[in-house]
Formats: sequence, structure tokens, C-alpha cells
Amino acid sequence: ILSKATDYLQQVYSIIEQRDPNQSEFLEAVHDFFKTMTPVFEAHPEYIDANILERLTEPERVIQFRVPWLDDAGHARINRGFRVQFNSAIGPYKGGLRLHPSVNLSIVKFLGFEQIFKNALTGLPIGGGKGGSDFDPKGKSDNEIMRFCQSFMTELSKYIGLDTDVPAGDIGVGGREIGYLYGQYKRLRGADRGVLTGKGLSYGGSLARTEATGYGLAYYTAEMLQTNHLTFAGQRVAISGAGNVAIYAIQKVTELGGKVITCSDSNGYVIDENGIDFETVKQIKEVERGRIKDYADRIDSASYHTGSVWTAKLNYDIVLPCATQNEIDADKAQIVIANGAKAVAEGANMPSSPEAIAAYQAAHLLYGPAKAANAGGVAVSALEMSQNSMRLSWTFEEVDARLKKIMQTIFAQSVAAADEYHVSGDYLSGANIAGFTKVADAMLAQGLV
Ligand code: GLU
Repeated sequence: ILSKATDYLQQVYSIIEQRDPNQSEFLEAVHDFFKTMTPVFEAHPEYIDANILERLTEPERVIQFRVPWLDDAGHARINRGFRVQFNSAIGPYKGGLRLHPSVNLSIVKFLGFEQIFKNALTGLPIGGGKGGSDFDPKGKSDNEIMRFCQSFMTELSKYIGLDTDVPAGDIGVGGREIGYLYGQYKRLRGADRGVLTGKGLSYGGSLARTEATGYGLAYYTAEMLQTNHLTFAGQRVAISGAGNVAIYAIQKVTELGGKVITCSDSNGYVIDENGIDFETVKQIKEVERGRIKDYADRIDSASYHTGSVWTAKLNYDIVLPCATQNEIDADKAQIVIANGAKAVAEGANMPSSPEAIAAYQAAHLLYGPAKAANAGGVAVSALEMSQNSMRLSWTFEEVDARLKKIMQTIFAQSVAAADEYHVSGDYLSGANIAGFTKVADAMLAQGLV
């Protein structure tokens, strides 16, 4: 016999599955989340009475639009644009824009769903949203990127605003793209700086926003290690990705005494037994917009290998996946465990498949889930919104200190929630429960809307 809570969770999941049977990433995120909710629903029948989960899993609004742009050869090109305004119970929709050929409604919805709880965990007043396009920035000229961003914003500008919905970057959207998007927004609607975050420093950006996700990941992981009587000092660290999250994770982990022995892109990975050199990766990826292979061409101690870094036989202690969703599946998780990993903390969103997470748990690895571990980026985005509203700029040290405190609080909140619901040491359940209860209570207080 199922308990009332288990029964409710299963009922709602089958409704969602029937509505959107083809949205595999979204269903995966929802399923992973529901798996951790049983103790909460057992303790709080009022959430069942209010049907909170069916409400929470249906976005408040989904916007889909055509993005026409002219390529350098003068051909008309068409992409699909999205903005999912998922939940505004605790503040304006907040979340990044992703430009990648894989982007579809399922991916934007999974990211938006995760964003709701991640944003709640930061303790700052931001709701959950996400957007993007299937536009592929790879190989596009600077002018093509600009024309795409201008066209995308021409439509998106109708739906966003500093008190309603505040986009930022994600995969494929960095400082350059935010600049073009903001320029077009300003032309159409006026100079509301707070409408986008991740802006350049000369027009309302925050110091430490660029570094925030990677630094935050390192701060969160340091907390998780410390609670388990470990530190970064002398540990071998494997990082995937070579984008904004990976680059600044490499820098901070190295500063904290860890040795990062690998990083990667979608073609392959580099191994450097001297420790990956942050400045070189930064130069290649941020300045030259090159590939990670270039690192091995430049650094004598490094070697380049094609394929996924998670299939490599290497010795390491700590794993920080910072590339993309489902980069570690069941087989790769077994390799990671066999390689000696003691801890995994996620810089990317949902980088571990459900089977991978189950494998970590069976092997008793410390596991820091994305919505807690990578919340530093959106946390500093919220601090950028605060600075914009106050029309002042904090120093790098001030923002960095606030970021560190926020990451420590996120970890502490997750530990406390896990203890309260008798799943001590399960930081995934803890993060889900702490984020969920905050949003659910705000929804209950606001009635059926
Ligand atoms: N895209 C980032 C994330 O996944 C940051 C979003 C933001 O700053 O709004 O959380």
C-alpha cells in the first residue's frame, strides 16, 4: 500500500508524462526532484491539498518565437527562440539564455525548473526562468552574432523587464552577447540596466559576475569537503568543460590548493600533470575563442585526447563536471568511481544522469547537486540587480565575500533540511527540500494563482 504522499507524487508525475511525453530532459529533472520529495509530502499534507506539484511543474508562461537574421553571405536564416517564465512566487523570473543547437522546449523547461529551486536557495528574491535558441554560435562571425542577438532581443524585449523577468548568460552567451542584447533592448525600451545581468563593467555590470559560478562551485565544494574532514589541499581534481564555469573553477580550486589535472571541450580533453594553467585556458577560450586542443599545442607538459574526459583512466579525488547536461551516464560514473573519485560537485546543470547519481550514492561519494553547487552565478546576478537598483557598484572583494557567504549558507541550509527530514548527508535531497519549501510556502501564501 502506497502512502498518501507516494501516491500523490506518482499521480502528478504521470500527468506530466502524459502531457509532455517527448520532453525527456524536463521529465528527467522532474523525476529526479520528485524522488527526493516523499519525506516532505509525508510531513506536510497541506502541500498535497493545494496540489502544489502540479502547479509547480507547469510553467506560468512559455514564449516561443521566430528569430530571423541575415548571415554574412546575405542569406535569410531562421532560428527558434524561447523564454520559459516558470515561477514568480518569490521574485521576478531570473535565469540565463542558452545558445546551442540542442536547445528545444524540453531543455529550456528542465533548466527553468532547476532554476526555481536554485534561485530560492540563494536567499535572494528571484523566481525561476530560462530561455535560449537553437542558434549555433560555433563558426559564426562577430557580425552574425550581433545580428542574431539584435533579432532575438527585438522579440524578447516585449516580455522582459527589471521587475518581471531578468535574463543573463548560459552556454553560448557571455559578455559579448549580453552587450549586443542589452544594446538592442535599450534602443527599443530605454536604458533599464537591471533588465539583464552579466553586463560589462562600463555599463552596469557587477565585479566578480564573470568569476561567480566557478568560484561559487569551489566555495561550495570546499564546504562539503570540510564537513567531511577533507580539503582541496593536495587533491587531484578533474574538471570537464572549458567555458565560463570551468575556467574560474580551475582558478579558484588551484588557489585553494587543489591540482586540476584535466579540462575539456566537446571534441576532447587535455591532461596536464603540472596542473592546468588558468591563464592559458582563459587566453585560448575567452580571448582567442579557440579549442582546448590549442592548450596542448602550447604547454609542454600537456597532452590532448579526443573523446569524453569521463572515459579516461586517470587518478583523481574530486570531480567537477562543468560542461553540459547528462555528460556523465552510468558507465562513465563507474569509470569516475574506479578512478578514485571521493566527491562530485556539479558546475553544469544536470551533468549526471539519474543512473550516475545512483552510482555515486551506492559508492558513498560526496555529491553536491548542481542547483546548490552552481548557484553562485545567479546569486551574483541578483547582486548585480541590487547594485543597479541602488545605482552603485561594490568592490570585487565585497561581491566575492557575499558570494562566499551565500555558498556557505546554501550548503548549511541543505545540511539542515536533510537532517530535519531524516536524510542526513544527502545533499541532493537537502537542496531540493530547502529550495522547494521556500517556494511552496510563498505559493500557498499567495493563493491559487
Ligand atoms: N545560467 C546560469 C545558471 O544556470 C546563471 C543565470 C543567471 O545569472 O541569471 O544558473
